[in-house]
Amino acid sequence: MVRIVEADAEIYPLEKKEDICTHIERCGRTCYKSENMITNETAVPFINGILKSGHESVIEHANVIFTMPNIPENRRILTMRDIRGLNISVERDSLTGEDAIVVSGNMRAFRDLARKYDIQDFLLLIGNPLFFIKQDASRAFDGIKLESVQTSRFSELHNYITIHSVCDLGAYKDITRHRLASFSIESTRYCNYAKGKFGSELTMIEPCNIEKGTEMYAEWLKCMNMIEESYMKMAALGGKGDQLRMLLPHSVKADMIMSANITEWKHIFSLRCHQAAHPSVRLIMKKMLNAFYRQWPDFFAEQYREFIGQQ
Ligand SMILES: Cc1cc2nc3c(=O)[nH]c(=O)nc-3n(C[C@H](O)[C@H](O)[C@H](O)COP(=O)(O)OP(=O)(O)OC[C@H]3O[C@@H](n4cnc5c(N)ncnc54)[C@H](O)[C@@H]3O)c2cc1C
Repeated sequence: MVRIVEADAEIYPLEKKEDICTHIERCGRTCYKSENMITNETAVPFINGILKSGHESVIEHANVIFTMPNIPENRRILTMRDIRGLNISVERDSLTGEDAIVVSGNMRAFRDLARKYDIQDFLLLIGNPLFFIKQDASRAFDGIKLESVQTSRFSELHNYITIHSVCDLGAYKDITRHRLASFSIESTRYCNYAKGKFGSELTMIEPCNIEKGTEMYAEWLKCMNMIEESYMKMAALGGKGDQLRMLLPHSVKADMIMSANITEWKHIFSLRCHQAAHPSVRLIMKKMLNAFYRQWPDFFAEQYREFIGQQ
């Protein structure tokens, strides 16, 4: 019998520069469902491995925010907006009352900036040689400061949120269309659910648009169980993950990590909390919006009112 679970979402916080590696490891291990292997020593070798293998999207889940004085020598950063994952603006700093150049983005973007423009300043300030492109680089800008990781006192462009969600394959297929967000998803190729580690069973998300106790629900459940039976039979015949996944339906559960800045999150909510979105996508997106509103009411109050109701 398949296991049935509810869709859910939780915020994965990242508050300190020192936690960048453990945050990345926590996000990246979702792909392999190897979270149980995390110890105090595993983050660096894990990240080394993914960087060497070219699986660099995993480091997109950690974002860093910098400021520098808005002086002519520094303004050439404004021409480097072609680096994906990098956000640059000139904003009034509420601490100093002066305009500052604010540069933020994920670890991958800062590595791409270093590769394309030989701008190493940001990586040097983050200070972890694991991410360096060059060791002995010279500085390109004056007065850069590392302000914070993930969230900041600046605009929504420079505030990032990572979530872990448990949703169905159909929902994540829709959600991963959002190109300005970063994703890591449980791999149906690497995870062989016939193995004891997965309880030798398939896990499905409770369908929110098929009412429990109805004939239609019974038909859905019968089909899910038949799929599981065939999956286990094919596995017993020597089927590999690549072959077994050909059977998986839209209802199958997947763990998904997703990171984006608040500008993109708001765009996604405007499309995916809307009536026109699929009910399973709407359900998971409203859970996220609710969680975000509790933590950042100023940024999300309007959408909370529109899609969820009165505070
Ligand atoms: C109700 C609904 C029904 C849908 N039905 C279908 C369907 O039948 N088939 C289908 O294939 N898809 C479908 N989609 C997916 C949809 O077409 C988009 O791919 C998805 O919603 C991503 O949103 P987005 O393109 O607005 O922006 P994102 O990818 O979230 O990007 C954010 C913004 O960045 C800008 N941007 C990003 N990349 C580019 C780019 N390459 N060029 C120019 N501007 C860019 C745009 O301004 C965009 O609004 C549907 C979506 C919804 C909400």
